[in-house]
Amino acid sequence: MHREAYKRNIRMGRQNYGQIFCTQCGERIGHVISKDYKYLYLVSICKCGCEVVYQTKYENPDNTQNYFIELKNGIASCRRCGKELFYIDKRKIINCGFHVICDCGKQYNISLPKVSDLK
Ligand SMILES: [Zn+2]
Ligand SMILES: [Zn+2]
Repeated sequence: MHREAYKRNIRMGRQNYGQIFCTQCGERIGHVISKDYKYLYLVSICKCGCEVVYQTKYENPDNTQNYFIELKNGIASCRRCGKELFYIDKRKIINCGFHVICDCGKQYNISLPKVSDLK
């Protein structure tokens, strides 16, 4: 079965505050704050089944030193510097995965097995 290419749907507003919408059902599933990270690759599976992907440009992100980060009320905050990196509304998604490099250099990673299994 053909799978649609990664969908990117983000609106960047003032102060680099961007809301992430599902392109299929229009639901707002979260937001990112772009000034507080160097790199962000965020994949969310919307309740409607659509895969919503947001990825910033970054030269060869290093995947060797990643650490788990807990989403508290859907908010990912850096454990070292305390900055809020992004927010995901868990009520509106089935699953999510990401790789983020904070402005302070600390990296976090949660893999999303479902995505790599889909071909
Ligand atoms: Zn959706
Ligand atoms: Zn940090």
